[in-house]
Amino acid sequence: MVRFQGVVKRFGAHTVIDGLDLAIARGEKLALIGPSGSGKTTVLRMLMTLERLDAGVIWVDGEPLTQVQRHGKTVPADSAHLRRVRGKIGMVFQQFNLFPHMTALKNCMEAPITVLGLSRREAEERAVDLLAMVGLADKKHHYPNQLSGGQQQRVAIARALAMRPKVMLFDEVTSALDPELVGEVLNVIRKLGAEHDLTMLMVTHQMGFAKEFADRIALFHGGKIEEDGPPATFFTNPRSERTRQFLRAVL
Ligand code: ADP
Repeated sequence: MVRFQGVVKRFGAHTVIDGLDLAIARGEKLALIGPSGSGKTTVLRMLMTLERLDAGVIWVDGEPLTQVQRHGKTVPADSAHLRRVRGKIGMVFQQFNLFPHMTALKNCMEAPITVLGLSRREAEERAVDLLAMVGLADKKHHYPNQLSGGQQQRVAIARALAMRPKVMLFDEVTSALDPELVGEVLNVIRKLGAEHDLTMLMVTHQMGFAKEFADRIALFHGGKIEEDGPPATFFTNPRSERTRQFLRAVL
């Protein structure tokens, strides 16, 4: 579903992603962990086309994200291609980034109407269903500042899902929340995990959740994957000394 092939990303002289190769299967739930500054967020931002690549290709659902073939040559993708491929991906950020002047319902209706061309009625039906799925059926007419952080984050998840993405990205979505609000957001993500077709990539510091939720854990170090594997072996029997050190520090 997603493949990074020799991806390089630099900020000035600093190589942040250093020849990344990573493939994520359809329906796979992958947790990205690793020290702060190791490049995890940059990986998600590149997938959202929020960062330009310095080398390599990212494939999404069989198509290169930022390039197209024209007359036998590889050229940078135009905005129509980017919009279409990016439409397969939804992202939820650490800061909820809701539109402050729109109710929960309107937040979830906006992009389906303007980007997908849904009618107001279709968009509203979809938004109502999704807000119910994240447990906020009774809050649909509330504005973001009338909602708790956990509720805002659940609206943000519903809003991303309203675009019917094939891949969902979660970037430390519980880091900005008070501890008592973390559980309700993780419960929604757990529920989504049961959707076998949805591919999920999650950057997280919640090792317990990663262990229980993910099919595979990948440890980032210095812009590369140091080690990856299923939670059962990754946490109990890591191969690399760096992984062992990281796990000793966080578990
Ligand atoms: P992580 O998510 O693992 O904490 P990031 O992907 O956020 O790491 O950042 C990786 C590195 O890239 C860090 O050293 C960070 O300072 C740097 N970086 C990220 N975004 C930018 C930017 N826009 N300009 C310059 N440096 C950046």
